[in-house]
Amino acid sequence: MKLKQRFTLSNLIILITSIALVGVISVCFLIMFILKYPVEDLYVSRAELLNPMILSRALGEFFQCNPDALRYIIIWILLDIAVLAVITTAVTGALARNVQKPVTDLTNAADNIRNGNLDFRVMESGYDEIDALCRSFDSMRRALKTAEVNEKRMSEERSMLLANLSHDLKTPVTSIKGYIEGIRDGIADTPEKQKKYLDTIYSKAVMIDDMVNNLSVFSKLELSKLKFEFEKGDINAFVSGIFEEYRLDLEKNNMELSVDTENTPVTVRIDYEKMRRVFANIISNSIKYKKDGRGKLEVKSHLGDGGVYITVADNGIGIKKAELKSVFDEFYRVDAARSMNIKGSGLGLGIAKQIVENHGGKIWLKSDGEGLGTTAVIYLPQCED
Ligand code: ATP
Ligand code: MG
Repeated sequence: MKLKQRFTLSNLIILITSIALVGVISVCFLIMFILKYPVEDLYVSRAELLNPMILSRALGEFFQCNPDALRYIIIWILLDIAVLAVITTAVTGALARNVQKPVTDLTNAADNIRNGNLDFRVMESGYDEIDALCRSFDSMRRALKTAEVNEKRMSEERSMLLANLSHDLKTPVTSIKGYIEGIRDGIADTPEKQKKYLDTIYSKAVMIDDMVNNLSVFSKLELSKLKFEFEKGDINAFVSGIFEEYRLDLEKNNMELSVDTENTPVTVRIDYEKMRRVFANIISNSIKYKKDGRGKLEVKSHLGDGGVYITVADNGIGIKKAELKSVFDEFYRVDAARSMNIKGSGLGLGIAKQIVENHGGKIWLKSDGEGLGTTAVIYLPQCED
């Protein structure tokens, strides 16, 4: 019910109950008055009733002869006033309590929020206007709660990342130290051994470089300090070019590649270097999260919705549906990836998302569940040649 309607209803209740009660009291008093006093003393003709002078003189004479009657009239009037006062106070009091309760609830809710307690519910009041306020308050509380939960999760993930990162950095650094000592102390005493040692040192250094690079790009993106240099280019040619570059690498990792991008050129605004990073992460994820045995990577592109969709489907370990969105959160890695002890900072997809969105596009993952492969989809808007 609207507040205005409730006020009108209260006024009507006051009016009707007052008229009824005052009417009943008046009728009772009138009957008692007529029975008690000789009203025939107040005899005035119908014509004289209309004459105020004669009427007031007759009334004066009547009350002079019956002084008790005046007291009787005063009691009658006072009783009517008292009844009116009680009705008005009761009805307006009830109305005020009704409005006051949700307002007090809202005040308490604001206090709760100020004190950091977000586990309460703002109840509805039955008034449209106040309910709208209660609902917006409750949705604000829920948004704050979600933000708090996210903040907590992110802070836990950040601390975990720091722990993981220091561990992930320590492992290659320790092994670099070990191999360098091996060379220095003459353990690698043949050219073949030395080459093997140096190759290992190089691959560990690349690993560290990747990690530090990811962190640096991520922090620049977070601070909006990463500069984009867009140019117009054919996305189909770019995508097939990149995957061809990785064909050998994929083959080495026992993965079969099939690229089926449309032959017709599709022009988009693109920062080649940044977009290369996006595809490099998708490819490296498909390699890292592949199942035992020969893997498959299928790349396709098709036009639609004023842009181009590029899909990269693998047949790897897949992702639970519930986690498909979270993997884009910074530092998020699904448990399977962690427990398989696969290296990664959980930043790749977060970086990819920001880069694609800076291109005016979208990126998401699809998977039918664990063990059922993963498809990364990138949509980029087309632009004129
Ligand atoms: P980084 O890319 O920073 O080296 P990462 O690969 O773990 O680390 P993301 O690329 O952001 O991080 O991926 C986040 C998580 O999503 C991964 O840890 C993994 O759990 C899951 N994931 C991503 N791609 C795949 C895939 N193709 N198959 C299965 N799981 C995947
Ligand atoms: Mg990755």
